[in-house]
Amino acid sequence: MHIPLLDLKAQYATIRDEIKPAIDEVLESQLFILGEKVVKLEEAIAKYSGSKFAVGVASGSDALLLALMALNVGYGDKVVTTPYTFFATAGSIARLGALPVFVDIDPETYNISPQKIGASLKTVSAKEKIKAIMPVHLYGQCADMGPIRAIAREHGLSIIEDAAQAIGARYKELKAGSMSEFGCFSFFPSKNLGGFGDGGMVTTDNETLAEKVEILRVHGSKPKYHHKVIGLNSRLDALQAAALLVKIKHLDQWTAKRRKNADYYRERFQKNGLNEFVSLPKVAEGNFHIYNQFVIRVKKRDELQKFLTQAGIGTEIYYPIPLHLQECFQYFGYKEGDFPESEKAARETLALPIYPELTTEQQDYIVEKIKEFYFA
Ligand SMILES: *Cc1c(COP(=O)(O)O)cnc(C)c1O
Repeated sequence: MHIPLLDLKAQYATIRDEIKPAIDEVLESQLFILGEKVVKLEEAIAKYSGSKFAVGVASGSDALLLALMALNVGYGDKVVTTPYTFFATAGSIARLGALPVFVDIDPETYNISPQKIGASLKTVSAKEKIKAIMPVHLYGQCADMGPIRAIAREHGLSIIEDAAQAIGARYKELKAGSMSEFGCFSFFPSKNLGGFGDGGMVTTDNETLAEKVEILRVHGSKPKYHHKVIGLNSRLDALQAAALLVKIKHLDQWTAKRRKNADYYRERFQKNGLNEFVSLPKVAEGNFHIYNQFVIRVKKRDELQKFLTQAGIGTEIYYPIPLHLQECFQYFGYKEGDFPESEKAARETLALPIYPELTTEQQDYIVEKIKEFYFA
């Protein structure tokens, strides 16, 4: 049996007949950059994510960058974030000459710990020049936004949600990307709503901020060829928008299937007596998890991954090196041991296939192989 971590061909087979005419329409129009399709997608994403405005951009990474720029984060400013995330989170901060203030994660949800943010803000040196908090809704589960919002209010900080992995996730009925100044989404093909290339979106309830991002994404040009600010080229294209407008109609159903697959794993791990070896994803109370990834924590992680690869099962380590230990970030001044929970998670976690088209037979095989690894 061969089971990839993600099978996009299986998904495409179910929507091919809807996608082709949508792409064809764009080809016939020969209108590729921004335009009507992108506006339609912006409206659809704003509605879906519970925000008033949405601005289409070139990638999730650019969404983060543009949100920071719109909040005037720049040289020497600081932004509180997690070291246990995809590179782009801290990369966007560093690109602007700003510095991340890393705060360790909650070991159960892998999301930034509000308690630890509070503790870190007590030290005066860290508080200096802090402009914003950038929590990540990792793997498809929202960070603990209630206390994070309270801290931001208390200290007068903005919040940018990195919701790249969390479209449709909810925190006590609030949608990911709608709980702060900005939500940042990615349409990278491996996300739950993935395009046929790169793409991203910034959401906000604030009209002034939405307009700022709209101007920044076209080199700061408004009116045309008049530049009051320096922006960048970060436009979403019509082909991506056309594909995503088809796909968003299926998103709730795909999410339901991911959640069903997660439940099935839980049942099978339990029935096979594996809970002693495999610690399953924990969903915090009030959270609606959309399982962009189903991440387990295990003993002998690297050996297990090798064993599963040999059995034809695709897995991935998200993420093997926490960001404070990345070579290019050494100038931040962090060292090994600074964030023990992030470092531990980086050593112990493994993502299993969870995509909507995964069958129960495939899941049975995966659990069977994990059992073989620990019991043989
Ligand atoms: C994917 C991802 C991004 C970046 O999105 P791109 O569209 O690939 O640029 C940012 N943050 C997190 C947490 C992500 O998973």
